[in-house]
Amino acid sequence: MQRRDFIKNISLASAASSIPILNTKTDNETKTITPTAPKSKIGIGFIGVGMRGQDHVGLCLLRDDCEIVAIADPDAWAITETVSLCEKAGRKKPAVYGNGNYDFLKLLENKNVDAVIIASPWIWHTQQAVAAMKAGKYTATEVGGAFNIDECWQLVNTHEATGSHLFFMENVCYRRDVMAVLGMVKKGMFGEMVHLECGYQHDLREVKFNDGVEVYGGGVEFGEKARSEAKWRTTQSQFRNGDLYPTHGIGPVAQYLGINRGNRFMYLTSTASKSRGLHDYITHHPKGGEAHPNAKVEWKLGDVITSVLKTINGETIIISHDTSLPRPYSLGFRVQGTKGIWMDINQSLHIEGVSEKHRWEKTDKYWGNDKTMKTHDHPLWQKYFPMAEGAGHGGMDWFLINAFVESAKQNIAPPIDVYDAATWLAITTLSEASIAAGSTPQAFPDFTRGRWTERVCKFAEGEF
Ligand code: NAD
Repeated sequence: MQRRDFIKNISLASAASSIPILNTKTDNETKTITPTAPKSKIGIGFIGVGMRGQDHVGLCLLRDDCEIVAIADPDAWAITETVSLCEKAGRKKPAVYGNGNYDFLKLLENKNVDAVIIASPWIWHTQQAVAAMKAGKYTATEVGGAFNIDECWQLVNTHEATGSHLFFMENVCYRRDVMAVLGMVKKGMFGEMVHLECGYQHDLREVKFNDGVEVYGGGVEFGEKARSEAKWRTTQSQFRNGDLYPTHGIGPVAQYLGINRGNRFMYLTSTASKSRGLHDYITHHPKGGEAHPNAKVEWKLGDVITSVLKTINGETIIISHDTSLPRPYSLGFRVQGTKGIWMDINQSLHIEGVSEKHRWEKTDKYWGNDKTMKTHDHPLWQKYFPMAEGAGHGGMDWFLINAFVESAKQNIAPPIDVYDAATWLAITTLSEASIAAGSTPQAFPDFTRGRWTERVCKFAEGEF
């Protein structure tokens, strides 16, 4: 066969396996950690105490096994609000590191800080997490998307070189219906997994643009004139075209498929729609209009980004990123196997042999309503529901913080670890690369360096 013909005929799978892995570092042995006696209480340092950081502070203040010992944030408003939260809760004032972008390094020198929660803008996550692990802190970082593959390797390499743990704060893994479905997947109710869907489908136009007065007030300003995410997130849409926020969707899907634990992502392709939503929003907004300077901004981010992933075990996954058009919120889960399907958009199930042929049935039959989930409610939700009720994002944030604090007290491997973080964050970079190269397949690096074959799923199988 001529080489030209051979290239024409190869399947996507073999094409993907021939794509060079972007960054292969020499193998590191994970540093052996001398086990330490579990602590009954930990001192937490917070890096970034804006909207999300303050949510986490609030949940930690409800616990008597954590002390908020230090906070770092260059924004005076964020510091004042957080100090006030601590004082109102009758706690000691935390040490404050508010002297610019790099004062977090001084926080990391604070001996009272056992563990760190990073909730800063995406661009800071890796360098702050790397510095925190090097300082020997039990480190948690908020979600986002990687700017390059090297960042993902930095997280893995630092964990392996220092033995410090990285807890990746993907809260949707703890969503009640998501965990119920995890139990159903493990029980084999959907049969063998075949195709899954997920995404971040959230109209962020108001969140992205505000006037610097009300955080979620809506407006058409971003950057320095704005507050919270409008200060930094909006600019991403100006310069990047890819799935900027993949982890809320892929986290649960990765749990369902055992990614990095007997399975792994092989490659993805991404395609971007045209970009209209943000421009339309600005030009039609009462505070905007055609003459507004931001009406001239050329947005690079496609309104809907669709990525298709293939796993080594043969499943396909579609992930959507859809944040600039009017729409109700949905993470768009679909979990489909040889015996049935669940879709969260209509909270419906179909299980062969149980459901009426060709008909959806409401999950209520399996789960009861929100307060009385019966048969398939996850044991952790059954146990902790009274404590989680009222916590952020329907209670799942309580589970996230609980898992972090309990893991940090024992200094043990977190339920969502550095390999999950690197793999899920890499989707952003790979999708940008795919779109830029005409939707070509991009191979996933194997951040576990082959250990995905022997790693086992332990997520939510213990006490937290
Ligand atoms: P935000 O802008 O409200 O807060 C970020 C804070 O980080 C700000 O106070 C800012 O001053 C501070 N900061 C900036 N540079 C810093 C630096 N060098 N050192 C320390 N602090 C710095 O944004 P947010 O909404 O709180 O988002 C923060 C993170 O949380 C992002 O990764 C976001 O994607 C994530 N988030 C997750 C969820 C979820 O449900 N999991 C929800 C909201 C936000």
